[in-house]
Amino acid sequence: MNSEHLIADIGEFPVTAYRVSKLFDDLPCCHRSWANQGHCAFLHGYERRFNVEFCCFTLESGTGFIVDFSGLKKIRAALCHQFDHTTLIAENDPELPLFRQLAARNIIDLRIMANTSMEGAARWVFETANKLISEETEGRVWVTSVEARESRKNAVTLTSQQ
Ligand SMILES: [Zn+2]
Repeated sequence: MNSEHLIADIGEFPVTAYRVSKLFDDLPCCHRSWANQGHCAFLHGYERRFNVEFCCFTLESGTGFIVDFSGLKKIRAALCHQFDHTTLIAENDPELPLFRQLAARNIIDLRIMANTSMEGAARWVFETANKLISEETEGRVWVTSVEARESRKNAVTLTSQQ
């Protein structure tokens, strides 16, 4: 354990980090998993939601928060741009030219992703939120997990070691 990050010394279980989770929801979008053998190859949509956990060793001076609301505005904006009323298509989708045509005719708001699954969305959100919060807080805060949820039943969680 790194004693320089000790927040409270309670014997066997030293307290070293603060964590807070924030929910980003109201993100209706559609996608398809073109390689799927079943109905997931059809366009279908969900209201996606992402529960992002942030972590730090040192609180923000002044507020005493891990991160305050204004620090999350850029993340919210990035998630809205990617997932609010958009159509997510994989970069290797064989029908990508067709989706580009639909986008050119303003029928869909196209976002091309490496992976359109919830796993791919979780990774995209993890990397995007981590980059933005790190810039916003000059490296004081980072992301430790993202839960990507597409429905009441299905969620994917991506976590880091620290
Ligand atoms: Zn599906």
